[in-house]
Amino acid sequence: MRPPHGVQDLMHHNSPRVRRVTVVVLDGLRPDAIERFSLFTIARLAQRGAATMRGRSVTPSVTAAAMATLLTGAAPERHGVQSDRFALPKSRGLVHPWPLLLGDQGFETTVLMARIPALYLTVAQGFARLLGVGETRFAGNSCREIAGDAIRVLSRQSSGVVLVHLPDADRAGHAHGWMSPEYEQAVGRLDNALARLVRTIDLEDPRELVLVCADHGGGGARQTAHDSAHPLDTTVPIILAGGEVVQGDLGHDVGFADVPATILWSLGVAIPATYAGRPLVQAFQRSEVAA
Ligand SMILES: [Zn+2]
Repeated sequence: MRPPHGVQDLMHHNSPRVRRVTVVVLDGLRPDAIERFSLFTIARLAQRGAATMRGRSVTPSVTAAAMATLLTGAAPERHGVQSDRFALPKSRGLVHPWPLLLGDQGFETTVLMARIPALYLTVAQGFARLLGVGETRFAGNSCREIAGDAIRVLSRQSSGVVLVHLPDADRAGHAHGWMSPEYEQAVGRLDNALARLVRTIDLEDPRELVLVCADHGGGGARQTAHDSAHPLDTTVPIILAGGEVVQGDLGHDVGFADVPATILWSLGVAIPATYAGRPLVQAFQRSEVAA
C-alpha cells in the first residue's frame, strides 16, 4: 500500500518533534461565530498559529460521519457512517484507525466526550477499543466538566493523542438555532473551557501540537440543523498551534479529513492510502524542506 503522493518524501525530510497532539473538536462551531461573538481564546490561537476559517466538513456534514472520519482517516463513503443515527457502520472497505497505528508505535490515545446513555456505554467502549483507543472517558455533561477532566488527563499523559469533543454549541444550535442568543452563550462557554485547557499546555514547546476544529457548521438550509450542502453547514474552522507550528493561513482546499492525516504525520507515523486527507505540512516549521 502506497501513501498518497509526496507523503513518503515528507516523512523522510521533515519529521516534526511533536510528541503529544491535543485535538479539540468544538461541535458545530461556525467560523463566523469567532469574530461575531468575540471568542477571544479561539481567535488568539488562530492568530498566533496556522489557521483557516474556510475548512471543509465531511459529506454529509454530521457529527457521527465526521468523528468516524476523524478516527479512521477515511471518507464517509469508505467508513460507512453516513448519518447521525447511532448505528454500527456498514464499512465499504478496510480502514486504518490512527489510534491503532499509533499504539503500535507506543503512543497512547485518550478520548474524552460527554456522558452518553448507560445503554450505549458498553457498545461505545467496545467500539473505541476496536479503534485502538486506550481509554474513552465520558467525562460530564458540559464543556466545563469535560475540559476539566481533559486537564487531568493532560497532566499525566505527556505523549500520544488526547482527543476532546465538546458538544455545547451543537446542542444550543439544534435547540435554539445557530447564532441565537443561546448559541452565543454556548460558544462563550466553549471559549472559556478552551482557555483553561490551553493554559495547561506550553505552546512554545516543539513537542506540543494543539489542533482545534469544528466538525460542521449549522444554520445553513435550516436554522436548527447542519446536514445540508449549504456553505454555512459545511464550512469549519481549523486551527493548529504549538512550538513547531508557523503562523499563517493554511490556504485553500483544507478540510476536516486532513486532521487525522496531520495527527499521524506530526507524530512521524506513515499515513495509509485509505486516508482521504493530507497532512497540513504547510503549518510546520520545516515544511519548505519537503519536496
Ligand atoms: Zn449536530
